[in-house]
Amino acid sequence: MAFEHAVPPEKAARVEPVAKNEYKMRVLAAEDNPVFQSMLRSMLTKWGYEAIIARDGAEALEALQAEGAPRLAILDWMMPGMDGVEVCRRVRAADREPYQYILLLTARTESQDLVDGMDAGADDYLTKPFNAHELRVRLRAGRRILDLQEELLRAREALREQATHDALTGILNRGAVLETLHIEADRAGRERQPLSVLIADFDHFKLVNDTHGHLAGDAVLREGARRMKSVIRSYDALGRYGGEEFLAVLPGSGRSSARSQAERLREAVAAQPFDAGGAPIPVTCSVGIASRPALSGADVDALIREADLALYKAKKRGRNRVEMCGSRQPPRPVPQEAAQDLCPA
Ligand code: GH3
Ligand code: MG
Ligand code: MG
Ligand code: MG
Repeated sequence: MAFEHAVPPEKAARVEPVAKNEYKMRVLAAEDNPVFQSMLRSMLTKWGYEAIIARDGAEALEALQAEGAPRLAILDWMMPGMDGVEVCRRVRAADREPYQYILLLTARTESQDLVDGMDAGADDYLTKPFNAHELRVRLRAGRRILDLQEELLRAREALREQATHDALTGILNRGAVLETLHIEADRAGRERQPLSVLIADFDHFKLVNDTHGHLAGDAVLREGARRMKSVIRSYDALGRYGGEEFLAVLPGSGRSSARSQAERLREAVAAQPFDAGGAPIPVTCSVGIASRPALSGADVDALIREADLALYKAKKRGRNRVEMCGSRQPPRPVPQEAAQDLCPA
């Protein structure tokens, strides 16, 4: 009979002290037999877990699929309706994150049955009857795996952040913003939406470094990126394209919208001097715009080339200003010479 050798929970709790980190993790226990339900509940509670009891497979599945579901589950194999193996299979099919660790309780001993259970995605099993200490140890092993899994996810997230973001300013790096541009250019073509790009380049930045030092220059770049980021719309992307050059991707923006976005960027930088610890540093930037209307499709290289040419024009015309390439409907693709003609300096 299941649990017949179970150590009484009171005694089990005294076998060894409850580890601090064992407290308050929620554990789902699915068991159709009311006697075992209450045994499981009192054992889990004694060991410092928060026990959530499901009376059958359907209840267990619902609890495991709910928002903020428990990450550790003990599923009885034999339950009316949906059995533990089926619950396990469905949880694995949903492939949720974070991972849920599943321990199957089985009275069966046939090895093929166990293979089926593990095939369904169970992490471990315990054959009834088992003693309480064994269950406790198995839960702790599951918990260790969940902790490792969490660490792994955090490391993966940190790596992804590192690979796509600029270390100095924290905004997208060159590779990531260019990738965004490619994705948005494809989308613009598919959905027949306009698309614009801006290149903003800080004016006379070499002079900032020469006058205030490289560290002050870095601080200006950081704060400048923050200011620009604060004025772009949530669906636009901003990245550090080069040293003191920034690229903004504006999906759905045609010429006039792009121009006002560019003005907002320029204004955000120029509005007030930068504080880099010493004397206030007035800094401006110039912005070049390239824009494609709906229906035209967008060739990324040509867009960047045109934005660059427009930027060059802004520099030539006195800096701290916004310029755009001339033609309303540039031919596609735009050869280098043609782009030069579109955007005379
Ligand atoms: P212009 O108005 O024509 O753009 O003049 P500029 O001086 O900004 O142009 P230039 O391209 O000659 O110089 C860019 C400067 O930006 C030179 C470089 O030292 C500086 N720079 C590039 N990356 C960084 C960085 O990460 N930190 C700092 N402090 N300076 C940088
Ligand atoms: Mg049962
Ligand atoms: Mg530059
Ligand atoms: Mg510059």
